[in-house]
Amino acid sequence: MSSFFENTQKFIEDAVRITHISGDILTRLEKPDKVLEFEISTGSGQKLQAWRVQHNNTLGPYKGGIRYHPDSNLDEVKALASLMTLKTSLAELPFGGAKGAVKVDPRKLSSQELEELSRAYIRAIWQEIGLDKDIPAPDVGTTPQIMDWMTDEYSKLVGKWSPATFTGKSIDKGGSCGRDIATGFGGYVILREFLNLQPITYNLKFETVAVQGFGNVGANIAKILYEKGFKIVAISDSKGALHEEDGIDIKKVLDVKERTGLIDRAKCYAVSEERLASGTPCREFTNDDLLQMPVDILIPAALEDVINGKNAEKIGAKVILEMANGPVTPEAEKILTERGIEVLPDILANSGGVVGSYFEWIQNKKREQWSEDEVLAKIDEKLTEAFREVQKIKEERNIAWRLASYVRAITRVAEAIME
Ligand code: NAD
Repeated sequence: MSSFFENTQKFIEDAVRITHISGDILTRLEKPDKVLEFEISTGSGQKLQAWRVQHNNTLGPYKGGIRYHPDSNLDEVKALASLMTLKTSLAELPFGGAKGAVKVDPRKLSSQELEELSRAYIRAIWQEIGLDKDIPAPDVGTTPQIMDWMTDEYSKLVGKWSPATFTGKSIDKGGSCGRDIATGFGGYVILREFLNLQPITYNLKFETVAVQGFGNVGANIAKILYEKGFKIVAISDSKGALHEEDGIDIKKVLDVKERTGLIDRAKCYAVSEERLASGTPCREFTNDDLLQMPVDILIPAALEDVINGKNAEKIGAKVILEMANGPVTPEAEKILTERGIEVLPDILANSGGVVGSYFEWIQNKKREQWSEDEVLAKIDEKLTEAFREVQKIKEERNIAWRLASYVRAITRVAEAIME
């Protein structure tokens, strides 16, 4: 099976092939501008591998999250950094693309160790970042608290409070209202626009949805769709999955998650009072089952490569909304397209996070604080516009959503490189 990095390159090559972009530009897009690879020593003497990859800054300062995950590796960071270049271009933000990671399981660290690690990461890269140079943000395994520690460490090193160098901070440290739900909200906007195009096939009120991953992105989109009247029939996290034919009460699950940290099988009692009363256990249900369920909308919101050549034939959804980065491989996309399953790609569907980050950056620079409603309205406007631009290309060229999104994003970067 090809790697996430090779898969991302393949999607880029497919888009370049149908545009008039030169081979030189393809080479430029395939290679990151700069790769920082280093080791961080923890207080306990452990050495952790870490990276910051700056992919391209033609359209503006490098922008991208920092991931803490035990499986992180350089190829993954390079792939994620190139997706950021495309994502910021597609949303017409004045940013380029970057990504960072530490190969670590943050759940195994104490709060003090997490703080030491985050500060050490910044001490290693501080000269390479800055509010007009490279602006990190959270990703898998990192949180607003971690961004606060990083901002504090960076500000000490440069000798002045510098909140605009990081986004995704907590509100009292200069974070933006609405940033925590921005990625999920953006996914809802893209889904809404897509469903608006299909009034006959779909009924917006009674869609069935399955969501894989219940972290920042998965939990927020599940909650937003639940509140909008969609029926969320399955959710999962790394420890297990829940399934309820009649729909899961997402608010109850969030309550359990807040108290216990997990949504594992035993917690399915939280789903329905009747089950609690009768003591009937949940049926056995796995993450693979979730991906193959006959739902209207499948939302992968965990990690990459989960829908691949091995399971694409068994996917039961009509539409896949890619909230994770890279959850569908090129091999799977080909099979899904042949089966008439539409895929709304990551660089469009999950760009609400970076758009929210952009508005946080603007607020920090202008020393302003906007309300959540204002921020979400601005995200809605930007993503609706991005969706319509992609839709135009899709219809003109009769191509899939991903290819149309890549064509639009790559063309904007290529034109700027040639200027
Ligand atoms: P997170 O760490 O908050 O949550 C990840 C979730 O996935 C957790 O619930 C975890 O238990 C679950 N998970 C892990 N492995 C799983 C598995 N095998 N099966 C089912 N669930 C599993 O991370 P996040 O910030 O929500 O990011 C999720 C995805 O969205 C990533 O691909 C990330 O790059 C992408 N993304 C995040 C943002 C953002 O603003 N946080 C923005 C754009 C894209």
